[in-house]
Amino acid sequence: MSAPVIELQQVTKRYDDGPPAVDGITLTVRPGEAVAVLGPSGSGKSTLLNLIAGLDRPTDGSVTVDGVRVDRLGETGAARYRRARIGMVFQFFNLLDDLTVADNVMLPAQLSGMPRNAARARAAELLETLGVDRHARAYPGRLSGGERQRVAVARALINRPALLLADEPTGALDTASGEDVRQLLSELNEDGQTIVLVTHDLTLAASCATRTVSLVDGRIAQDQPAAATR
Ligand code: ADP
Ligand code: MG
Repeated sequence: MSAPVIELQQVTKRYDDGPPAVDGITLTVRPGEAVAVLGPSGSGKSTLLNLIAGLDRPTDGSVTVDGVRVDRLGETGAARYRRARIGMVFQFFNLLDDLTVADNVMLPAQLSGMPRNAARARAAELLETLGVDRHARAYPGRLSGGERQRVAVARALINRPALLLADEPTGALDTASGEDVRQLLSELNEDGQTIVLVTHDLTLAASCATRTVSLVDGRIAQDQPAAATR
């Protein structure tokens, strides 16, 4: 079997004195899986994603992603790790409003040292694939929510990440745009992209996940293959 993309061993994250936000989670994600992390508000979903992204450090346990011991990285190493191996998509897009769509998408490639022309060509190709190439020279503020999220996905993919992480990617979208983004994530996974997404959106989980992991109080309460309806 191919090496896992994510391997969490007994991962715990405590903030202050309260109960742990993530409590002894062990989880393996293999290449090509699309895992939907479900659970009530406060169950530790975002914390789990942040630990995988190296945005946060576990109090205990190990986080290995694409062969990298993420829990051992310092700040610079973690930033480099994210740029090279992770694509991230957020609820509110997090695009830079004073850069054009194309420049937003190119930015992570340029920060990784890709020559400007190569980055521009790859950005153009992604924007076309994602159906937003006609907006390449526009500023994100001119786009609809669904279009902005497509641009955010293009930016997340530009460095060909081993793992795409998404935290409530349809959370701020109207029904039609939400459907667009569901379709897009599902197509990316069908093309082999490994995805972990956190969501309250059961339609999203049902349409694009190959597996659902439900958290309760920072622990895995349920871990099952997605329904055969996909
Ligand atoms: P979810 O994304 O499932 O809603 P979170 O991972 O955001 O849950 O939060 C899990 C728990 O950890 C909650 O009790 C939350 O209050 C707490 N928590 C999250 N981030 C922090 C933080 N930076 N400082 C203190 N407590 C936090
Ligand atoms: Mg959250």
